[in-house]
Amino acid sequence: MEFISEEIDKYCEAHTTEENELLKQLNRATHVNVLSARMLSGHFQGRFLSMLSQMIRPQNILEIGTYTGYSALCLAEGLSDDGRLITIDINEELENFVRKYLSQSDISHKIDYRIGNALEIIPTLDITFDLVFIDADKMNYANYYDLVFDKVRSGGYILSDNVLWSGKVADSTKKDKDTLNLRAYNQKLHDDSRVENILLPIRDGLSIIRKK
Ligand code: SAH
Ligand code: CA
Repeated sequence: MEFISEEIDKYCEAHTTEENELLKQLNRATHVNVLSARMLSGHFQGRFLSMLSQMIRPQNILEIGTYTGYSALCLAEGLSDDGRLITIDINEELENFVRKYLSQSDISHKIDYRIGNALEIIPTLDITFDLVFIDADKMNYANYYDLVFDKVRSGGYILSDNVLWSGKVADSTKKDKDTLNLRAYNQKLHDDSRVENILLPIRDGLSIIRKK
């Protein structure tokens, strides 16, 4: 679901920097070869993630939910020269596909792709992050947030994707599991006095928190 009219949406996309050739190929290949291609961030959100990352110039980024690597490549664009992005995904079936595309990027040496359960991998990371992107299974968003919080530096950011869940979080008649989880998650972040927060109606909803 889009939250703005198709016309405005198209206009915004048409006035947003194009994807580079690799991202275009990855976008297309994901749609042709991989299930659930709508999970891929895509042109507009990808440029937004890249822009945010370039504004922050992070040294360390953590991404939870690689899928086919599209958002990882976008976020990595903003890394400092010696920066590093760790991206985690539990789906090993996508590994060859993802590595094929990551390896073609001129920033592939900055991307550390790990296969496994993020709930198990995050506690093993002894790194301070400037930027975290939460985009894996919705029922564990609060767990990811709690696991990662102390590893984010003061002044660092946590982005959470799909937090509007097609608008269902704002419709009190919708009570499926993911909707309830995301609704509670948005409230948890809003009630957290340790952060400043903003929820943006971009694509399926993207929230930004800044750790005080
Ligand atoms: N960030 C990607 C899309 C991610 S889709 C983009 O914007 O293009 C969500 C991904 O989370 C899926 O690939 C799924 O395999 C992964 N995932 C689900 N549960 C997970 C877990 N416990 N640990 C790590 N990854 C998980
Ligand atoms: Ca997403």
